[in-house]
Amino acid sequence: MGTFLTQEPIRKKMKIYNSLSRRLEDFEPLTPEQVTIYSCGPTVYDYIHMGNARTALVTDIIRRYLLYKGYNVKLVQNLTDIDDKIIRRADELGVSAKQLACKNCEAFFQDSLRLGIQPADVHPKATEHIREMIDLIQILIDKGAAYVIDGSVYYRVNAFADYGKLSHRKPEDLLAGARVEIDERKEDPRDFDMWKAAKPGEPSWDSPWGKGRPGWHIECSAMAMKHLGETIDIHAGGEDLLFPHHENEIAQSELATGAPFARYWMHVAFLKIDGKRMGKSEENFILLRDALDHYPTEVIRHFLISAHYRHPLDYNQESLTKSEGALRRLNNCLDTLKKYDADIEQNETADVPLQHAVQEMKAQFTQAMDTDFNTAQALGAIFTLVSEVNKSLSTFDEAKTPVLAHAYQALTETCQVLGIYNTEIQDSPADNEAKLEPLVDLLLEVRQEARNRKDWETSDKIRDRLKELNVEIQDTPQGATWKFITK
Ligand code: AMP
Ligand code: ZN
Repeated sequence: MGTFLTQEPIRKKMKIYNSLSRRLEDFEPLTPEQVTIYSCGPTVYDYIHMGNARTALVTDIIRRYLLYKGYNVKLVQNLTDIDDKIIRRADELGVSAKQLACKNCEAFFQDSLRLGIQPADVHPKATEHIREMIDLIQILIDKGAAYVIDGSVYYRVNAFADYGKLSHRKPEDLLAGARVEIDERKEDPRDFDMWKAAKPGEPSWDSPWGKGRPGWHIECSAMAMKHLGETIDIHAGGEDLLFPHHENEIAQSELATGAPFARYWMHVAFLKIDGKRMGKSEENFILLRDALDHYPTEVIRHFLISAHYRHPLDYNQESLTKSEGALRRLNNCLDTLKKYDADIEQNETADVPLQHAVQEMKAQFTQAMDTDFNTAQALGAIFTLVSEVNKSLSTFDEAKTPVLAHAYQALTETCQVLGIYNTEIQDSPADNEAKLEPLVDLLLEVRQEARNRKDWETSDKIRDRLKELNVEIQDTPQGATWKFITK
């Protein structure tokens, strides 16, 4: 991870909303100043969409802010590289499950980097941790918390008295949400598989119970504990994972070790589109890489953190256009401010309102982020200062220079924590086209003059060269018209 301009000492306790207690709690990592985070990563059967990106970005912001506060952070994010969906999609495409998973893992890293998300400290893959999963399942069998049927191993939900403590569901409701396959062989319909006996033609591994492959929940329990120990500080994922995935992770891990599995459970609300969850199975998704082809990284980051992570967020053009405008305002302000010299001594009477505004912004930013990573409020604090700076700049006098420099430092520092300031904001494709219009009109005039002189060679040359630049000319009885074409 990059370092920030100043690292704040850990002064004040942060608060995190813990899904386990359903309350805001003071944040106290197990080891002072060292935070471990496990984030459930993607199932790599396709490229990631904007919904996946929201959850990944929230984890990135948590990590950046904890580093800014002076904590050491170890982040582990798994990659589910074996699963029913991967096997099915690989079959459809005529490639192996491994090939498909490898390709999509690479794509995941590329897309994440394009969104300004640095790789986690460890990205464990399920297929590289089969041994750890088998060991964990064996412990659970030995403790009487699992049973084997025809080469598959099931977790015995009844064996764990606290089952349901995360999802706060009563036993009778647990069934409704579990969407468990009807399997007459199970002792209890709530029981779930940790090891699936091999089916013909599917990838499989040797195990004490015969060839097979792991279930999804055991993957995360085994990989989290291998890389972060029995108890992790923060466990994060999208809200869809709370039940049954995270409930089952707790049941497996805590029964095996007797220790609490995660101290703080954080769940990111859905990114929606037209009021519905954006999802691969919903077929209403926008791929992150497609969004990144149209908007700069910082615009997409701004949009995705414009709501607090526990509130749903709607994907639509209007919101992205708003983020684009906000980022342009921010960058214009920072471009103007960067020329002011920080070394000139501060005059205490110079622009006192702006001095206060800078202090206020820093306090509000910290307050917002300390209170369950409220990025929406943190952005509000930043943009209030941008307005104050713009006001101040409209009546410039030399004595203000150090105050403006101070504002620049405070803004860049906080924007870097959120990852919304770094690169130049490029104009959107629509802006670029608008700028080109007078030039294309001019070329059409020149072409018309050539045609009037019967200079067909020049006329055709202009038409052909414009076409190479994605501008198509159509000659009509009323004269030539043109339009941008997309390839
Ligand atoms: P998947 O590849 O479906 O296992 O999802 C990877 C991560 O993205 C998980 O943490 C999911 O909870 C999260 N996720 C999936 N869809 C959305 C969505 N629409 N909004 C926010 N997070 C999501
Ligand atoms: Zn998981």
